[in-house]
Amino acid sequence: MTPLASLMVALALGQSSAPYVRSRVDAGDTRTQCLYWTAERITWHQSTYGNPATAGETEFEAMRRSFQSWQDIFAQCGNLALEEGPRVNAREVGYTREGDNINLVLFRDRDCHAVVPEDDACWDDETCSNTYDCWEDDDNTIAITLTTYDERSGIIYDSDISFNAARFSFTTADGGTCFPPVTANCVATDVQNTATHEIGHFVGLDHTYALGSTMNPSAPPGEVSKRTIDSGSRDFVCKVYPQGGASQACLHPTVEAELGPKGGTGCAASGSVAALPALAAWALWLSRRRRREEGVR
Ligand SMILES: [Zn+2]
Repeated sequence: MTPLASLMVALALGQSSAPYVRSRVDAGDTRTQCLYWTAERITWHQSTYGNPATAGETEFEAMRRSFQSWQDIFAQCGNLALEEGPRVNAREVGYTREGDNINLVLFRDRDCHAVVPEDDACWDDETCSNTYDCWEDDDNTIAITLTTYDERSGIIYDSDISFNAARFSFTTADGGTCFPPVTANCVATDVQNTATHEIGHFVGLDHTYALGSTMNPSAPPGEVSKRTIDSGSRDFVCKVYPQGGASQACLHPTVEAELGPKGGTGCAASGSVAALPALAAWALWLSRRRRREEGVR
């Protein structure tokens, strides 16, 4: 589909083409709180395994460049720091009450359908990916960001990015488009292109159909344009994570209460800044939810 045709479809379906769209507690529901980090430093880790099918260790460097592109913007106008921690052997995504809960980036290069028995309970529980270290989600999904957040405050606790290396051939070179099995010195599915998009989810962005956005939900073979973060996504960083200020919620709790469940006004940039409660206090008694972010397709 051409970009214009895909935009027309998006508009017909009521999907947004705003410069940026924030992720919500309930995806797309502007009556619910936006998702955002309040920590000043967010450490992320790459799985030591990397992706053996990508040339050399170039996938690690491509991932670093993707985070650096976002960090460059945060350094200019944002209030948090994205820092790479040491590589880890961990292979589990998601959040547990006990445990390290590191923000993990990993490639899954085995299809669960090939390694998990059909009658395994993990299919219903959606735990096959962690239990068997395999790609469990949709075959056409290139990558997924799994974010855990407080469903009342929208504050993010943990976010992990998984790449579908069971289906896609990830490359790191520049050049023309190629199709597997040809993947040398050309672009099949670009690591940096994919990671830059997923890190957008990691920091609280949802998809938009705005032309040229890093957060456009589709990515054809050979694409590298999402490596460069667009101006709309840049604005998101500057406005939601303002330098010298608090990270911005979308709904002020008292306003929400006064207006009732249908009264949410969304993310007015000029809206008052919500006074955030202490994270620990909220975390003690509010339930947490896991959320699947569809990756680029
Ligand atoms: Zn996505």
